[in-house]
This record gives sequence, C-alpha cells and structure tokens, in this order.
Amino acid sequence: MKLRLESFTTQGAWYDVDKGAATCTCPAFDANLHCKHLEAVGVYKQHKATLSARPNYSQALSALVKSIRLRDIEEGAYWLTYCWGFKDKLSGSQFRTVRRLLIGSAEDGHSIAVMEKLAENFPALLNKQVEFERVMAELVRICKVPNWWNPATGGHDYIHCGMLAMRKTFYAPQSCSIGHCLNSMEQAINDQSKVAAMFWMMKADESGKGAGLHIAQHLLAIATRHHHAPAQRLMQNVYLRHAKSLSDDGNFIGQAVWLLAGGTSTVIDQIEPVTRGEVRRLIERVNDTQSYPPPEWCCDGVHCAGNDIRYAGMWDRMYAACNQFNRYQQVLPSDEWLEDQFYSLEGLRTCT
Ligand SMILES: [Zn+2]
Repeated sequence: MKLRLESFTTQGAWYDVDKGAATCTCPAFDANLHCKHLEAVGVYKQHKATLSARPNYSQALSALVKSIRLRDIEEGAYWLTYCWGFKDKLSGSQFRTVRRLLIGSAEDGHSIAVMEKLAENFPALLNKQVEFERVMAELVRICKVPNWWNPATGGHDYIHCGMLAMRKTFYAPQSCSIGHCLNSMEQAINDQSKVAAMFWMMKADESGKGAGLHIAQHLLAIATRHHHAPAQRLMQNVYLRHAKSLSDDGNFIGQAVWLLAGGTSTVIDQIEPVTRGEVRRLIERVNDTQSYPPPEWCCDGVHCAGNDIRYAGMWDRMYAACNQFNRYQQVLPSDEWLEDQFYSLEGLRTCT
C-alpha cells in the first residue's frame, strides 16, 4: 500500500510512504532506512531470525505473551514451563515470569476479577518454593476469559480508543507538565471523552519515571469521587498494591482511564474455576512434548527476534487483530492475513 502522510511536526509537509517496500521520502528515512512514519502505519523495525528449539529466556517469554494474547492455552503452557526452567539458572527470571503473567491479565484481558486474583497470589508466586502448578493455574485462569479481540468483551472499543489516542500523540510532540496532563485527563473523563482521556494519560506517562504512580493515585481519587467501583478496584486492589513491580506498565492505568471515561466490558467480573486436575494434565502433556522452536506467530521481531508482526502488542497492530476477528469470527494465525483490510489508518492525516 502506498500513501501520503503529513509530517508530525511541520503542517503542510507530506511524505510518500510505501508500506510494502517499507520506504518513506522523509529525511530520517534517508539517514536510517527507518522512520516514525513507517511505524505510524504499522511497519516496525524488525529483527528477523531463524528460531531454534532452545530459545533464550526473553524469546520464550515473548512466546508466552503471544500465546496468552491468542488464548492458546497449550502453547502458553509449553512456554511458561520453558521459562520456569530458568528459575534457578537465571537470576530474576522467576520475578519476570510472574510479573509478565500479572501484566498479561491486563494487557490481554478485561477481567478485573482475574487481575485481582493474580494480584492477591502475586507474593506467593514469587516464593522460591512455590509449586509450579499454582503458576500454571494463573495462565489457565487468564486464558479462560475471552480477550479484547472478541467484540463480545467490549474490547474492540478499548483498542480502537487506545490506537486513536496514540495517534493523537504523534501530532502533539511538545511536552506538558504532569499537572496539566492530569487536569486535562480529568476534564476528558468528566466529558466522557475516551480518546481524549487516554491521550492525556499517555502524555502524562511521558513526563518521566514515577509518572504511572501519580496517574494511578489521581485515577483512584477520581474513581472514588465518582463511585466507580471497577476503576477503583483496578487501581486499589491491583496496580497500587504492586506499584513497585508495575510502575512502568501502562495497561492497568489505560484500562482504568477508559472505564472512567465511559468504556465498558462484559467480562469485568468473569472468573472461571481452574481445577488441580486440568493443570496437572496440562503440565504432563508439556513434559511429554519434544522441544520445538517458538511458532513464527509468537515472534514479532520487535519485542523479540522474529518474522511475524501480526500479534505484536502495539495499539495499531492489536486493532488489526480485532479486524481479523471481524472477518473470521476467530483469531487464528493460520487464517489468511489481509493487511490492507485489517490495518486501519484512522486518526492519521493521510491521502492516497
Ligand atoms: Zn518517514
């Protein structure tokens, strides 16, 4: 696809972007063979790779994240087991694995009940002696509730608003004080303007280290004043409870802002039972599996080495996955990917 994209900084300056060829006519592309215009239309700088059956820890963790995203429990179980194998070999890996599950509950799910359960179990899961079954149970619990790409959850609106808010930030590169951002965010919440509220949350988040904590405290105060129980639970019972571990993560505050500004999800209170038996069977099956490389769709080439951008966790890419669901009523990597149909340019100043 070829299109013209207006400069983010100079009104009236236009660049020719060719998605297929991954080229742009801007000066930055000339110098680096990559630029923000390409990223703005979903073409990210990728680290291509040949995948091995013994990937490193980060690569395996990325495979776990993608499996959670697509609700592929068996694939997720394999990579969670693989990551857990680093527990005594790689310092900090247990923390990273467990933290990723907690983040995954919000990056890939709208069930606050599931997030609360994970937040409650978080300290126990970090114990060196924890039974692996307990860790695996959390993966199963997350995957039993549908993800945002299933429109029945209300998740398409969340991803859509996030994508539009992110694109608004492209055209507003100037930095603002955190106070100004938080006031504007609150105003947008009062106006029930979801995109504007998420935009100001993102601008506030840019203001540096520790911004997440400020935003969360402000959101908790707003949620309390508005008697908004879901946002209150998200901030109080999950994010602020583990703020030290989650400080640089935007998923919990993102959902709280969206909910406060009028977003709704049907799965906020959905939590399914997970039995010891099913977890054991899952672990046994993994233990009987010969080692194999992460599937291509698990490796986006941006967050880890790989060749398949489709399920990367950027707003624009996630919205494309929503559109894949709209087409097939499912999100399966084996279904044909129609980039020009699934990838939306909404919110960008373009002409073709
Ligand atoms: Zn460019």
